[in-house]
Amino acid sequence: MAVSASGYRGRFAPSPTGPLHMGSLVTALATWLDARAHDGQWLVRIEDIDYPRCVRGADTDILQTLERLGLVPDEAPVWQSRREALYADALHRLDMADQLYPCGCSRKEIADSLLHVRERHQTLGYPGTCRNGLNGKLPRAWRVRVPDGPGATICFDDRWQGRQCQDLETEVGDFVLRRADGLWAYQLAVVVDDGLQGITHIVRGADLLDSTPRQIHLQHLLGLPTPTYLHVPVVVNTVGEKLSKQSGAQAIDTSAPLDALRMAGEHLGLRNVGKDVKDWLERATADWLQRLTTLPAVAGR
Ligand code: GLU
Repeated sequence: MAVSASGYRGRFAPSPTGPLHMGSLVTALATWLDARAHDGQWLVRIEDIDYPRCVRGADTDILQTLERLGLVPDEAPVWQSRREALYADALHRLDMADQLYPCGCSRKEIADSLLHVRERHQTLGYPGTCRNGLNGKLPRAWRVRVPDGPGATICFDDRWQGRQCQDLETEVGDFVLRRADGLWAYQLAVVVDDGLQGITHIVRGADLLDSTPRQIHLQHLLGLPTPTYLHVPVVVNTVGEKLSKQSGAQAIDTSAPLDALRMAGEHLGLRNVGKDVKDWLERATADWLQRLTTLPAVAGR
């Protein structure tokens, strides 16, 4: 693993569910700019373990589009589908540490019991039904325990959004690491990979803000360092939905790479100047850290 003089290692971690669109390009660009502005390394990891959602060929399509836009990773990309043994190993370690239990609840049972406990204003997340045993149910998924009481609140200082706190016990509950369908949960795979790949700075869309405390909890349990976080605002369509394949986002047009970068740069509030891709990226890199100092959540800190 190469470490640059600055020690910074960042990554873009797309799920190959379709081609790169303006929403995912904004994230990719922010990750690249932050790495370059810190003289760091920029990696790409294909998060392709939610098999039913993956689209064949979307991974190479994303990598080619990035390259056309001048965003070339410093190390060979990795695919999560080839790293499943690492997730199994982490799950085993959590099990040995008695942090894990099998859960036999169906979605419907969880929804019903939540309705019941919510009336008593206790929790918004999984109510811990199987914490003390399956009660005759068949094991379906594997859940990790979250702390109780004051230790359940996890806070972090986001470089874009400011301070964030979440009470894992009441807002999330014990969460799934291995799903009932046998697939690895995103939360586990992302923490294992960020840890093993030595990622120091995570930049991604703000739709993942509320996953971060779960990931910090897993880092603590697995003895992994906590990276710094920066969550960029998500791009929404005209009716306010997050841009995604489901909400009808269009693929980036690689025949006009500078236009695509300019649109993404505008969303990030960059000055947006440059005569070609290389020039634009250089100027945007020079602007990036300055741009971050103007954010309301961080200005004046
Ligand atoms: N694969 C996730 C996604 O495309 C991103 C994961 C991350 O950046 O932590 O939404």
